[in-house]
Amino acid sequence: MGIWEAMKTFIIRRRLLANMISSECKHPLEEWMAIKARMTFKKNRELRKRIGKNKLEEVTREDFDEYQLFCVRKQMKYAEENSPYYKDKFRNAGVRPEDINTWDDLQKIPFTEPTDLAKDSMYFYAVSRTKLAREFTTTGTTGHRKFIGYTVNDLVSKIDIVASALKDIGMTGEDSLHIMFPLITAWDPSVIMAGACKILGYKSSICSDPDAEKQLTTIKESKATYIIGVPSFIHRITTLTNKIIDLKNLGIKKIISTSEPLPESLRHSLEEIWGCKVLDVWGITEFGLACAVECDSQNGLHTDEANMLFEIIDPETGKHVPDGTFGELVITSLSAECSVLIRYRTRDIAAMLAPPCKCGAHFNRRLAKPKGRMDLQFKIGMGHKIYPILFDEVIFSNKSIVDYQLKITKNGYKDILTFEVETTTPTDALKEKIINDISQITEIKQGLEEDLVDIPKITFVDFGTMQYTVKAKKILDCRENFD
Ligand SMILES: [Zn+2]
Repeated sequence: MGIWEAMKTFIIRRRLLANMISSECKHPLEEWMAIKARMTFKKNRELRKRIGKNKLEEVTREDFDEYQLFCVRKQMKYAEENSPYYKDKFRNAGVRPEDINTWDDLQKIPFTEPTDLAKDSMYFYAVSRTKLAREFTTTGTTGHRKFIGYTVNDLVSKIDIVASALKDIGMTGEDSLHIMFPLITAWDPSVIMAGACKILGYKSSICSDPDAEKQLTTIKESKATYIIGVPSFIHRITTLTNKIIDLKNLGIKKIISTSEPLPESLRHSLEEIWGCKVLDVWGITEFGLACAVECDSQNGLHTDEANMLFEIIDPETGKHVPDGTFGELVITSLSAECSVLIRYRTRDIAAMLAPPCKCGAHFNRRLAKPKGRMDLQFKIGMGHKIYPILFDEVIFSNKSIVDYQLKITKNGYKDILTFEVETTTPTDALKEKIINDISQITEIKQGLEEDLVDIPKITFVDFGTMQYTVKAKKILDCRENFD
């Protein structure tokens, strides 16, 4: 590390609020949000008036709602002054920051579409490009190229949330994080994770090699105690190494799954094989790596409500849906300096869960495990929507299965689902079990009953021959003229 880099690391480390969280704190992530709210409360008379308290020690949900609405107004004001996109957008919609006083008022603000961001990302930038500390480019799952710019302050708040998330998960300075993302992903989260660890003073190791023995060697050499990576990739490495050694002996304390939906069946099998908890973390390139983080009670992901406001809408009507109902996740940045995004439609299918959580966190809203992306949905039969995680659940419940891919074709009016399955035990019994399990999935069952979907077909491919694919390419729709 050069002197300049060391200095930058030192400066960023000093500015992290995560360092203010006491080591005895049971809910570091929630406490970190409370610290942010208290700081804003102290500095702003308007917020103190809205909350109606002189001091903000115990933060309630009502207090936090006011804090978030205050941040929305501030972010809107900043956006209309600095971001050409929002200057036009708010003027055209006739909406002003002072119009937003309640949760329902949020619906007055027009949505921001991902296609707008892909069309011209620079139009969103609220600062000049020369002031950026970092810029990320993503092709995304649908092929649009988006640019997301970070100022130093943006970078600090992103690292701050990763730091609080790692603390929440239980990591300390004694631990070492092994980072395993396949190189196939559109952007490289490994670098950001490793960078965050360095700033925090945590040890980390990176290995993106699909070679199982290389992974094992790196884990052992780095004395890793935590692992983070893409679940299908971790699963692949696990199935391959499980035969060589008992993975429980490696002393891994927790596995963090991210970048893809985590099937429950896969979680259980990984937990059994590694002898530790597997926690889910959800992120999106537009907003950062750790937007929501699961706690040990594993019933929803704690959201980063200090940097983001989460809404769930009915994708057809655009209106709010009640807590617990699945819909499209819409996010508003609350403190972005460069890529401001207000009511950004993520295309992710999720639900919000009201506090409290079983872990004891009392004001933070949680994200029910996201089901996947709307653009990865395919329609079969009478229009039943299917997406990869539906099949992940039943297929990965068989421990001998390494990977699979689904091809949808059509024969006359019937949809044909053909699963190519890579397994160590290609038996007839396994084939039958997979067919039965898949046929029990509600969407498939209905298609079968309507006689618009054929009984699923299974073909086994030789163990070790299937190329690793990210979830986005798990389902191949080969139907022509498909509506
Ligand atoms: Zn919790």
